[in-house]
Order: sequence, then C-alpha cells, then structure tokens
Amino acid sequence: MRSPVVEETLNMCPPSDEECLRRLRAVSEAALAITSELTLEQVLQKIVDVARELVQARYAAVGVIGEERLRLASFVTSGLTHEEIEAIGPWPRGLGLLGLLLNEPRSVRVKNISKDSRSVGFPPNHPTMTSFLGVPIVSKGNVLGNFYMTDKIGKEEFSQQDEDTLAMFAAHAAVAIENARLYTDTSSELRQKIAKLERAERQARFLAELGSLFLAAPFREELWLQDLAKRLTEPFGDASGVYLVDENDPTVLRKGVMFHANSARKKVAEDVVRAAWGWLRELVVSYKQAILVPLTGTEEYWTGDSTQAEKDHHRFGGILAVPIVVGEKTYGLLVSLTSQPFNLTQDDLRFASLVADRLATAIDNIRLYRELCSQRSLLESILDTMSEAVYVADPQSNLLSVNRAFAQTIGANSKEEVVGSIAKYTHLVNPRREDGRAMPDEELPMERALKGETFNNAVMVITPLAEKQNRYVSVSGAPILDEKGNIVAAVNVSRDITELKQAEQFREEYIHTISHDLRTPLTIIQGHAQLLQQALDKAGLSYFARRSSEAIVTSTRQMNAMIQDLVDSARLEAGQLVMEKQPVDVRAFVSELLNRAAGAMDVARVELDALEDLPQVSADPDRLERILMNLLTNALKYSREGNRVTIRIRASGDEVVISMTDRGEGISPEDKKHIFERFYRAKGQRKAEGLGLGLYITRMLVEAHGGRIWAESKLGKGSTFYFSLPL
Ligand code: ADP
Repeated sequence: MRSPVVEETLNMCPPSDEECLRRLRAVSEAALAITSELTLEQVLQKIVDVARELVQARYAAVGVIGEERLRLASFVTSGLTHEEIEAIGPWPRGLGLLGLLLNEPRSVRVKNISKDSRSVGFPPNHPTMTSFLGVPIVSKGNVLGNFYMTDKIGKEEFSQQDEDTLAMFAAHAAVAIENARLYTDTSSELRQKIAKLERAERQARFLAELGSLFLAAPFREELWLQDLAKRLTEPFGDASGVYLVDENDPTVLRKGVMFHANSARKKVAEDVVRAAWGWLRELVVSYKQAILVPLTGTEEYWTGDSTQAEKDHHRFGGILAVPIVVGEKTYGLLVSLTSQPFNLTQDDLRFASLVADRLATAIDNIRLYRELCSQRSLLESILDTMSEAVYVADPQSNLLSVNRAFAQTIGANSKEEVVGSIAKYTHLVNPRREDGRAMPDEELPMERALKGETFNNAVMVITPLAEKQNRYVSVSGAPILDEKGNIVAAVNVSRDITELKQAEQFREEYIHTISHDLRTPLTIIQGHAQLLQQALDKAGLSYFARRSSEAIVTSTRQMNAMIQDLVDSARLEAGQLVMEKQPVDVRAFVSELLNRAAGAMDVARVELDALEDLPQVSADPDRLERILMNLLTNALKYSREGNRVTIRIRASGDEVVISMTDRGEGISPEDKKHIFERFYRAKGQRKAEGLGLGLYITRMLVEAHGGRIWAESKLGKGSTFYFSLPL
C-alpha cells in the first residue's frame, strides 16, 4: 500500500520527465522500506541507511530533536564503522553546519565542509568529510530533525536533484518518525498497563493463597508465621517477617518471625529490626503508621551483634513496615527489608497494608477461636462438675456431647467413649414411666426435645448400670434452634430425684398417719361425746357436766380442723394440689355459701355487698369455698359478737377482688407482715384455736388460682382481707 505522501509526490511529476519519475519511484520504494520498522531507533537506522543510498552519500546521519527544542535527542549514523563511531565520541552538540540546520530549518548544500565559513571543523579522530547536504525533516510545520549527508560518491558535491530527492524522502521519513514515536508512546503506555495488570493479578493471587494459609493458623501458630514470613518475601523485600505484640500491652513484643533464604542475611535482618524496634514500635505499632524508609547502613540504630563485615556484606536498602490493626487493636507489624538498591514504592506500601489487613482479620479470628475454645472447655468443666447428667444430640439422635455424670449413669469409663446413637445408651438404663410401666420411644425425653418440645420435670425411672438399683430422674429438655428456627440439636438435663421421691413417700405416709390413724380415735371421741351430751341432756344433769361435755365436742371439732389444716398444707407443699377450675359467678357462690353455713356460723352478722352484673371468674369451687370459709371464720372469730362483717365483691380490670371487712380487734403492723406465713399466730393472741395455718393455706390456694391476697388493718378498728381471682 502506498502512503498518502507517496501518492501526492507521484502526482507532482509530469509523466514525460523520466528522471523525475525515476527519483519518485526510488523515494516511494524507500518510503515503503521504512514503514515496516517499528521502534524509533530501528526506524531512524533504516531511514538514514535508505537516505544515504538514495543520494549516494558515503556517510549519512539523522538527528532527531527532542522535547526540548534545539537539542538532539537521537543521532543515528550510516556508513561509519563501529570503531569510527566510538572514536568520534559524543554526539554533535549543534554547532557549525549541524547547528545551522537546527536553528534555520532549510536545506544546505556545501561542496567542501572545511572551506565553508559556517563550519567549525571536525573533532579529532573524525573521518575527513568533504561535500555536505543537509535537509530538515518537517512534519505539519514542525521540525522533527535533519538529514546530514556527506561525501557524494563519485561526484564532487551533491546536486540540486539530490537535495530535492532527499527533501521529498524527508517528508516520508517525518511520517515514519511520528509513527514510531506514537508507537513507542502507546507501546510503553501499553507495557505499563500490562505490567500493572500483571502486578494486580500477582497481588490477587498472593492474597488468595494467603487465605488458605490462614485456615491452618489456629492450630499451628509458629509454623504458620514462618510460612507467612516466607511468603511475604515474594511481593516485598527479600527478608520479611511478622512481629506480634501483646494484645493488652502493645509495647511488649510477643513473637517475631523473620525469613530470609540465606541464614546469615536473615540474622542481619533480625538485627536490623531489633535495633530499629524502638522507633518501629513507636511509629508503626503505637501510631499505626505504615512506613517506607531507605537505609544507608550507617544508621545509629543498626547496632545488632552482627560483625561490621557481615553488616557490610548483607546491607539492606530499606525497611517497609505496616501495622497489623483491627479497629482499636494493634496486633503487631509486618516488616520487610529490601536488598539494595531500595526499590519499593508507595504501591508496595499500599499492597502491604492490604496484606496486613488480611493478616489482622486472620489474627482476630484466631483470637476469637481461642476464646471460644477456652470458653468451651470452661463450659465443659462446669458441666462435668454437675451432678445432673447433661447430654446433647443432633436431629438424627446421635450424641454430640455428654458430661461426666451422663457417662457414669450409663456405666462408661469416660465421656469420650460415649459416641453414636443415643438409643443404645438409653436402653442400657431401661427407662420406665414413674409407675414402672414401659416407656414408649416417643415419650423418651430426647425424642420429645428433638421434636421441638420444651419441658421440665419429666419424671421417669431408670436403672443405672453401675448401681443396679432403680433411680427416679427428673428430666428437663429443650430443642436448640438456629437463627431460622430450625432444630439443630436438643439438650436434656437429667436430675436424680430418688431421695426427693423417698422424702415425698415419707411425707405421704406421715400425712396418711395423721389424717387417718389420728382422726379415727378422734372421730370416736367426738361421736361418743355427742352421745354423752344427749344422754346428759335427757337425764337433766348439772350445768357443770353439760359444759364439760360441750367442751369435749368443741375441742375435738377444733382438733379435727387442725388436723385437716396440717394435712392440707402438707399436700399443698408437696405440689399435689390439682385444680379443677370452672366458670364461677362469685356473687351467687358467696350467698349460697352463707345460706349453707347458717346453722354452723353466726352469718346474721354478715352482709354481702356485690353488684349484679359481675363477670364470672375461673375457679375451683371446693378451693374457693375453703378460701372464703377461712377468711370468714377469722373475721367472725376476731371480732365481737354483734359487729358486722362485710363481704364486698368488685370487678377490677381482668380480675375480681373479694374483700372481707370486720370491725374487730385488728392486727398490729408487725404481725401483719407475717400472718400469711406458716404456723404464724399474732403475738398475745388469746384465742389460740388454730395452728396458724389457716391464712397460709388460704394464700396457697389463692396463688394456685393465679390470684393475690393481702390485708389492711388498724388495731382496735378492724381488718380487711382482700383476694383477687383472674377472670
Ligand atoms: P389460725 O388458723 O390460727 O387462725 P390463721 O393463719 O388463720 O391462723 O391466722 C393467723 C393469725 O392472724 C391469727 O393467729 C390471728 O392472730 C391473725 N388474724 C387472722 N385473721 C384476723 C382478723 N380478721 N382479725 C385479726 N387478726 C386476725
């Protein structure tokens, strides 16, 4: 393909001018020859060779002006041997004829250089040159440089035609030079871009590889740090290391690892860091500053115990140090010593900061992991000291963790040997229901917890291998959920309650004894006392005998009530109170109760103050009757005959409040604090008829309904007892 310049030039010649056409063809061929070359140096060489050929010069040179005008940036010769070039020495500086062309870009033709007034002569060792032709190379009005031709072969001087031909060729040369420059510019830009990309890729790969290195870190810190230091020498200095400080006191160096392939050089590197530690710690660790410092080797701080000869031999060019920081925490620093010359840049510093960031995160993770491990072992030792058997299973019922007590229960020597499905261990202890019947699998506590159930005090009977004796256990269980609410495991805690059960049994027997064995003779006494009373009445015996038989009857009734209180409170405490709640209209309930009690109590003193449309409460009628009777009995008992007792019923929010007001002796503030306690009787109470259990039982019953009980009282004025029942 012809260049546009060639096209243009060919059009310039009239077709009849053979000479002109010949020259044009030569120029065009020459132009084609120079377009194939690429770099500026290569293009200039080709241009000057072709130009010399074109005008038949013995010697030729092309000079290219640099960015700073009037100075030659390149000077390429043709026709001179290597030795001749060497002998000439430095490039022409722009004096004489060469300088003339630089100053005035016009073609110059001289027959004999040495005779020309504008010449300054040749430097020594310069081959003698006679004729001269100088032509400027111009592109778009800008002078790029000049052609210098000397010694026309076979002729005394260069002709006008030579000048024209060279001028024409200079136009092509200008294009080629500009192209080459463009190429050089773009290619160096491209090269830079590629280098940058390659660097980025290398760095990315390095970081990725670092990631895999961090994985093993928690398990082998020492080795890991050594691996890391070695790796760091790839992107940074040839001696690299990691120095970790105490997390709580960053002034204390905890661990330092340095790597260099050569052990002598490594030692010097360690010396340098040790000597520089003071300011490294201050700047990098305390102030969290990344630094890049060239070293001359004469620094004062370089005082390690390496000999001077070693220091001289293993001189380092500089230090790069970057803090390893996460948030407020400084873990240490990453340090690299470069060989001479110091060739690290800000870019290296940035990358080192990135590596340090990753490192910091990894160290932070290791710390968390360690904390977790120590917390775990703490938790494990706590669990092991517990007397309760604790066991955790996954959704497939495989044991994940058990404590020592569990291992003991199933007769294992250590908890480590307890692995696998929980089924094989549960069957070892033969779990049964409390009544001794076989327990179906779905009732097993772990099965229930794994199904998502949370429960407390599931009582069962087991026969631990070690004891060969039945034990009662109370098991609590719960599922363990992940953030999404899926069951990932379940935990059971099993407490041996055999002793408790035995105590309960004992209490049962005790209650049975007093309620049955003690009451049987009492009933007989009561019965016979009543018969006796009737017989004495009929016989019309003395007033005194009548009073005595009455006292026997009243006392046995009181004793019976006391025994009933004892039995009731024992049952309540044993948790054997089963409530049978139903909707109750309290107003109707109270008035019906007063009707029924008319014979046994002085209900004429009692007035009922209740609204018609009260909401129903949820209550166990038998228990409610007991509550009301206890309070009413007290109100009548602790107030004078003839004084009114008011029962008031009011709805309040989501409950109904029932109060019992008497106009009796009242309760002192000191006594009031304790009246709901077991066996409490007010000080100086003359009517020691009860055991002090009535209000205690009343409180238990109210609370079993989910209600509250309290009292207000003024000595000498009377008392009001309140209790609430939820709707
Ligand atoms: P007891 O069954 O012995 O009567 P309670 O538990 O019913 O025992 O009552 C505890 C104490 O509270 C009584 O000994 C009595 O001193 C005091 N008490 C209870 N109700 C009244 C009341 N309405 N007025 C004055 N004191 C009372």
